[in-house]
Amino acid sequence: MSNHFDYLVIGGGSGGIASARRAAAHGARTAIIENASIGGTCVNVGCVPKKVMWNTASIAEVLHLAKDYGFDADFKGFDWGALKQKRDTYVERLNDIYHRDLDASEVTEITGTAHFKDARTVVVNDQSYSAEHILIATGSTPVVPDLPGAEHGITNAGFFELEKQPKHTVIVGSGYIAVEFAGLLQSLGTRVTMLLRGEFFLRNFDASIREVLIEEMIKAGVHIQTSSNIRSIDKDSNGQLTIHYNEEESLGHIDTLIWAIGRGPLTAPLALANTGVRLDSNGYIETDRWQNTSVNNIYAVGDVTGRTALTPVAIAAGRKLAERLFAGQKDARLDYDNIASVVFSHPPIGTVGLTEEAAREKFGESAVRIYESRFINMLFAITGQKSPTLVKLVTVGDQEKIVGCHIIGMAADEIIQGFAVAVKMGALKRDLDNTVAIHPTAAEELVTLR
Ligand code: FAD
Ligand code: NDP
Repeated sequence: MSNHFDYLVIGGGSGGIASARRAAAHGARTAIIENASIGGTCVNVGCVPKKVMWNTASIAEVLHLAKDYGFDADFKGFDWGALKQKRDTYVERLNDIYHRDLDASEVTEITGTAHFKDARTVVVNDQSYSAEHILIATGSTPVVPDLPGAEHGITNAGFFELEKQPKHTVIVGSGYIAVEFAGLLQSLGTRVTMLLRGEFFLRNFDASIREVLIEEMIKAGVHIQTSSNIRSIDKDSNGQLTIHYNEEESLGHIDTLIWAIGRGPLTAPLALANTGVRLDSNGYIETDRWQNTSVNNIYAVGDVTGRTALTPVAIAAGRKLAERLFAGQKDARLDYDNIASVVFSHPPIGTVGLTEEAAREKFGESAVRIYESRFINMLFAITGQKSPTLVKLVTVGDQEKIVGCHIIGMAADEIIQGFAVAVKMGALKRDLDNTVAIHPTAAEELVTLR
């Protein structure tokens, strides 16, 4: 077998696999290098096992409503171990499917850690490989703070290894992962404390959405401690943790500490210094709008570029790049504007475009008009528990172009995709007004806003 390829992809995660398979489909002789489980973060320790846990927690929540609907049902407990086993089996099934798909696409799989010998040569297990085009899609890795006892905490990967349900978990961080893990653990009966260094979580999200989430999480029983800066962590002989924070405060009897304070680029093993590939001030690989790095014929996509760190983004950028390089589509590139995303919190958030604050800053106070409605989903009409939904449109100008659409509440995760299409197409508020509602749904509120 020749060690020279048309396309050599480093990283068998969301972006790498998608780009490799698309390139191979256009006839490129392609190889992909992976040093861990195929599928990357999303499949193994991210979106997929997380969504299984979110579904599990959502079922627990519905079980709590069952009595109000006349069912003689009691929530008698939950078998974490059995669920974990099923979840692991599902992930392994997906790993197999990825291997089969790569094989069917005639992409050569190389196992091991890649580093650059020079800008044209990649080495894996002492074997050299070269290619006309090389893609770096090595993703990101969780940040763990440099504090005494920080090693007693786990990150997302450790969370999915837990064999037993934690009794009391402390989550440090205030982004997607902190909020998602806190919500699902609380719904499953773990006592959860969130330690936020600032005043609130999801700092870059629309304030109205954030307010509903904080309210709902507190109602669900999550303890949220703001302005908390961790100093150190102790572990006693029973494995229980004590977390010391601020001047003299501490939290004891903690069995699980989760660091969720962001992720950084996974570039260290690549020996990029041998290539001249430039990094930005945060260590991410610098890329232009075409995913080109500073070195000819070396490209980067996905989390390692520091752009929107989402699976569909890595996939789309990887595919567009393959089409540009191997299908003659010279203009193919990903447009990073108006990318929708969902936070699988409890309740979930769906969002696309600008927040109210960002729109006012960009277009000026007087140009922005907000439409907002808060209501109770009909599911809760006959239950004791009432969980709010909030929908919000951010519009600009006389035409009321929709530049932001934000939803929190039941089914927000599914509703937002369709509205993201409308926003991407440049929809005006009157386009939504001209759309006849579907009744009775939560989504109809977005086309009947006054
Ligand atoms: P990855 O998927 O991480 O793939 C990189 C691969 O490269 C890895 O398999 C790694 O082992 C390999 N690698 C690294 N260095 C080398 C090397 N030197 N040699 C060989 N192989 C190497 N996104 C969503 O869109 N929706 C979600 O619900 C969602 N949930 C998430 C939940 C969690 C807990 C986390 C952590 C992330 C979540 N994400 C979610 C983000 C998503 O997982 C990432 O944005 C996505 O996986 C990025 O894809 P990538 O191809 O850039 O990197
Ligand atoms: P995020 O970037 O979402 O959030 C990290 C948070 O950690 C920041 O909000 C920051 O808070 C806080 N933080 C940073 N440093 C410290 C520190 N030293 N001490 C305390 N808090 C700190 O990172 P995540 O790790 O949650 O997720 C990584 C990325 O993965 C996300 O940005 C997202 O793109 C992706 N992801 C997507 C999901 C989805 O699509 N549903 C789910 C999970 C992850 P502050 O506000 O104070 O700056």
